[in-house]
Amino acid sequence: MSISMSSAATTPLTHLNPTAPSQISAFPTSLSLPTPSPTRPLSITCSSSTLQSQTSTTTDRLFNFAAGPATLPENVLLKAQSELYNWRGSGMSVMEMSHRGKEFLSIIQKAESDLRSLLSIPPDYTVLFLQGGATTQFAAAPLNLCSSPTHAVDYIITGSWGDKAFKEAAKYCNPNSIWSGKSDKYTKIPNFDSLNQTPGAKFLHICANETIHGVEFKTYPTPAGENEVLVADMSSNFCSKPVDVTKFGMIYAGAQKNVGPSGVTIAIIRSDLIGKAQPITPVMLDYKIHADNNSLYNTPPCFGIYMCGLVFEDLVEQGGLAEVEKKNVKKGSLLYDAIDGSKGFFRCPVEKSVRSLMNVPFTLAKPELEAEFVKEAAKEKMVQLKGHRSVGGMRASIYNAMPLAGVEKLVAFMKDFQARHDHA
Ligand code: PMP
Repeated sequence: MSISMSSAATTPLTHLNPTAPSQISAFPTSLSLPTPSPTRPLSITCSSSTLQSQTSTTTDRLFNFAAGPATLPENVLLKAQSELYNWRGSGMSVMEMSHRGKEFLSIIQKAESDLRSLLSIPPDYTVLFLQGGATTQFAAAPLNLCSSPTHAVDYIITGSWGDKAFKEAAKYCNPNSIWSGKSDKYTKIPNFDSLNQTPGAKFLHICANETIHGVEFKTYPTPAGENEVLVADMSSNFCSKPVDVTKFGMIYAGAQKNVGPSGVTIAIIRSDLIGKAQPITPVMLDYKIHADNNSLYNTPPCFGIYMCGLVFEDLVEQGGLAEVEKKNVKKGSLLYDAIDGSKGFFRCPVEKSVRSLMNVPFTLAKPELEAEFVKEAAKEKMVQLKGHRSVGGMRASIYNAMPLAGVEKLVAFMKDFQARHDHA
């Protein structure tokens, strides 16, 4: 859209022509408003060709294998685009609405209700839309779930994120690392029977899917203590499959992998655990404050929550998380089979039974070819395949929104790359 104005450029449209807003529907192709006075001419034009270049079509989009922020469902982006300028006739965008107005309340309530139906979240669990990323929950979880800094908690460390959570917890309680996969370069999940859990621990913390190392819990450990609960960072596999929420005291997830843009963190907490935070807990980290105010204690990330709501709606329309899981299994199998069937040209270090369906790390037998692989893939419109700087190699993140076609294209490229470079 191009807008050309004369001296009236800084004058709000409503002052010039009170009827203008109702004439400006979303994305008009051509618009010119009456000149309010002979001395202050104004014209607004939107050429259709400029509009077309702003409205990308599916062919313009890349296959984005980034670990997060990550690819979002195309239909969700297009829906958000169509509602951006004037949300459902409200006369404003979601970014401009009061978070206490009826429009935004309907958005956040629908988002919560769709999430509740997707994960069958029981009524005695509270859903919170928070800020600060999953990293903030590394502190908030111990501050809220341990009423005293002397309380013991257990951490199973299956990768970098679990390790970060453990280290942050040490500031607010007494955490024990009861198992670490570090010596195996984080390629395994422990046998739960062999875990030496701490008597009296308040919670057992896991990272359900390690985004960097590609290790995913397929089943969950049971906390040993009678009053102990399981806490999971599900940032990178949230809503990728059905989960029995009742097995957990708390689940938290940053939105920017599977369910929306960065800036929103979702926490699902058994309600009886709320309200026992340590006195030093900052108000913004206190679950009770957020629960009592329905996630509206302060200004929430409104647009991000709206986007999460559109993603939840889309997941419901896809038939729910059991259907979504089937698609993820299909994509994951295709990629892992290609790696395993490459006769060692490509390798995935993760133990087969715990390989992530979301983040697939792999290396080349000839590491000197890895940079070329990433570069050539990018030329083929497959981007962000470089592995995390701490582990190297490649990583394909294939979250819910990565279409099967993206994985098929990657696998075809891998085969072609091997045919051109495997002269062993
Ligand atoms: N946990 C996991 C599993 C992650 O993948 C990430 C982000 N990559 C984080 C925590 C940290 O999330 P945030 O950047 O939202 O704080």
